[in-house]
Order: sequence, then C-alpha cells, then structure tokens
Amino acid sequence: MNRVELAERGRPARDDRVASARPIYMDHHATTPVDPRVADVVLDAMVNVFGNANSVDHTHGEAALELVERATAEVAGLIGSDAAGVRFTSGSTESIRLAVGHAIATRRNRVLRIAATTVEHQAVLDAIRIGVRSGLAEVIWIEVDAEANLRAESLQAALSENVDLVCVMGANNEVGTIYPVEQIARDVHLAGAKVLVDGTQAVGRADLRVLDWDLDYLAFSSHKIYGPKGVGALAVSSDAVHSEITEHVLGHDGTLNVPGIAGFGEACRLMRVEGAGDERRIRACRDRLETHLLRGLPDIVVNGNRGNRLAHNLHLSAPGIPNDAVIARLRNKVAVSTGAACSSGAQTPSHVLRAMGLSENMQEGAIRIGLGKYTTQDEVDRAAAEIVAAVRGVAGSMRGV
Ligand code: PLP
Repeated sequence: MNRVELAERGRPARDDRVASARPIYMDHHATTPVDPRVADVVLDAMVNVFGNANSVDHTHGEAALELVERATAEVAGLIGSDAAGVRFTSGSTESIRLAVGHAIATRRNRVLRIAATTVEHQAVLDAIRIGVRSGLAEVIWIEVDAEANLRAESLQAALSENVDLVCVMGANNEVGTIYPVEQIARDVHLAGAKVLVDGTQAVGRADLRVLDWDLDYLAFSSHKIYGPKGVGALAVSSDAVHSEITEHVLGHDGTLNVPGIAGFGEACRLMRVEGAGDERRIRACRDRLETHLLRGLPDIVVNGNRGNRLAHNLHLSAPGIPNDAVIARLRNKVAVSTGAACSSGAQTPSHVLRAMGLSENMQEGAIRIGLGKYTTQDEVDRAAAEIVAAVRGVAGSMRGV
C-alpha cells in the first residue's frame, strides 16, 4: 500500500519531504516511527491536559488522571491484562529491572535462582548480571537450536533445578523467532517458578495474554509499536505482586509522564484495531524482499525460524562478507543493522548468533532487516536493489575486482 492509499484509508500520510530525504527505514526492531495519530494525542495531552495526575483536587489533575486511566485500559486490552496490573515505566529495560528486582526482593534470605535463555536481550542479561554480581541471584542457561528455538530438553533440565524465575522472550529481537510462551508459562508454573516474559518485540505482533496465561511479569515498550520513546510498562498477573512492587521496590509513583502514557495508550489501541491487517501487508512486503534478495544473492542464508518468526523480520547472512562494509555502503540509502541496537553500537559479535551456533562466516555476514507499517512495495524493490548491489560490491572489492 502506498502513502496515497494509506491517506485514503483515513490514515495520516507521513511527511513526504522527510520520507524522501532520508534512507529507506528498515530497522523497525530498533525503533518504529511514531504514528502521526499518536503524535496528535501526545501533543494534545502536553498542551491541553497538563495537570498532574496525582494532584486531583481540581479538574486539571482529574483530566490528566482520566487520560492515564483511559490509556491504561488500552494498554491492558492489548495484552489481556487487568488495568490494575499495569505499571508504567520508561521502557522495557526499566520494566525488566523492576521485575527482576521484585523477584529478588521477595525471595528474602535466599539467592534467587534464575533460568534464562541464551538469546535474551542485553536488558535481561544485564538485570541478571547485576543480581549475580551482588550475590543475590544465580543463573542457569536455557539453550537454543540453530533457528533460535528453545531446546525443550534444556528448558526441562533448568526447570528440574529448583529455579524461582524463568526469563523468556516473546520473540527474538535479532532473528525474529517467536517462542511458545503459553506452553512455557504452563511448564514453569508446574515447576513452581515464576515467568518473566520480555514482550518488547512481540506485543501486538504475536499472541500474549497476561491473565489467561498467568504471566507473572510481562515487560514491553511503546516505541516498538509506533508510540513515543521513553515509556513502557510492566504488567503483572497478580494484585499481590503489584502491591509488593510498590512496597518493596519502587514506593509510590512520582509524577506520571501523562503525554507519553496517553500516546502509548493510543499506540496500543491502533495496534489492537489495525495490527492484524498491518501485519498481513508487512509480511507480504517482507516475503517480496526475501524473494528479491535470494534471487539476487543466491549464496545468502535466511536465519531464524522461517516458519515461525515476526512478520517484519528478515535476518540474513552473506557468508564471509563483512556486514560493517555492507552497511557502510548502504548508509545513505537503506537503514538496516547488524543486530541489536546496543550491540551494533558497540560492534561486538552477536551473542544470539553465537548461541545459535552460527559459524564465524555467517556471523560476520549477518544483517538484520526490519520492515514496518509505512514500508511500501516501491521501497522494498529499491531496498532490494541497493542491498544486492552493496553485497556484490563488497564481495567484488574483496576479490580485488
Ligand atoms: N528487550 C528486547 C527484546 C528489545 O528488543 C529491546 C530494545 O531493543 C529491549 C528489551 C529494551 O527496550 P527499551 O528500549 O524499551 O528499554
């Protein structure tokens, strides 16, 4: 669907001057552009509903609180949670730290035994590392196979080790593999442990239900679903946990980020109403891109679980072709990345690809492409041509051609 068609469907078109002056954006795992309708809600909240939601002795505060309550209902609606179980944060990283902090704080006098998959995001790995370094937690790793699927026997082995908390993601942020969260949560609970789901990439794109599946903690973020940055949530399935977080970890909320929360709520509403249709279009674009690339670059390999991955994810390896050289050639044409936002900044090898057992050659040539709801077929075709030319160009220069 092109921009004109989007506009005709009542969806605001993004500014073409901005769109055409910049490289084609295909890094939607790192972040998504804000939907203009979300931006309208944020602006309206900033300008017109500026009261403090904690200061309800007058109608300014009441109006702000009402906005927060409406947004909370939308956020909860997207993830099948009770509104009372939603706690706003600055994003997934903070939500994850809060969840791990709560799990540690409520173990009392005992080290928290955590099991986590080897492909978790750095935000989860860091939260665990901080607990382990301070002697409050220990960790057992759950391994994955070559497509980043969890190894069932490794999960079962971890569950037999008397663990307290299992960390699993809804979908992987590099290769897009989707995890069977409902089944995992059931197994974790049978083993008497709690589950922390990092839903940052999966919320709105894969099924996740806090209450039906009794997810103890679900962390997610607004900026991955066309909402503003710097706002996210931790949803919990139990009222007791919610009050314990207040009592043991956070205390009472400070002044709430009302515009951010209102925008997050609108982003969740749009995802609920339009997400399925968007995902179908995005999947068709992703498949078209994949077909173009496999035709133009017959040596490339598509990573992850091709039958069960995020619709907007295309992760590929051009064996032995240094990805930084390819990305340098694409810099002003197509925005793609080598992997997770923080890892690519640090130029470190991907722990995800290593955990999948990919050879050095495949890791070196890895490129993550993430499409979005504003990606057009024309952009797909142009991006495919640019990527093919960039990979061939690097290969040629390595051969001295
Ligand atoms: N978890 C996953 C799977 C992610 O992809 C990200 C961000 O890239 C995060 C956590 C951190 O999210 P935030 O930027 O909201 O802190």
